[in-house]
Amino acid sequence: MAEREFTSAFFYQYLGEHKLMASQCCSCGALHLPPRALCPCCFGDEMEWVELGGSGTLLAFTTIHIAPTAMIEAGYNKDNPYCTGIVRLAEGPTISAQILGVDARQPTQISTGMPLKVAYLERGEGDKRRTTLAFEAIEG
Ligand SMILES: [Zn+2]
Repeated sequence: MAEREFTSAFFYQYLGEHKLMASQCCSCGALHLPPRALCPCCFGDEMEWVELGGSGTLLAFTTIHIAPTAMIEAGYNKDNPYCTGIVRLAEGPTISAQILGVDARQPTQISTGMPLKVAYLERGEGDKRRTTLAFEAIEG
């Protein structure tokens, strides 16, 4: 496989393959998500792609009632809010994503620290179809 550059474009290309990929610094081992080509920890510029396991915990969240256009097209509005959060992955890095499997109308029932697993949402039609990163609450 040809080397893929450490850019968001390739991060999303991997997402389309249902892989959650981070860049890892070859010098200090730091993981970067979204990927970076230059390590902010040691300024190393040798990276390699690593696939993350996709499990994590909810660090912080907010419920969105005024949805941006793409989310309105996905069916969200003030009567059907959604939840986005910051997820800390088991490997350490954090990323923001939509949180599924929770009721955004009842935010008091959503708790930080809850276990999550990666989910891939396919949104849009035809040329606009793309994969969006999300995380799903694990039952129990
Ligand atoms: Zn580094």
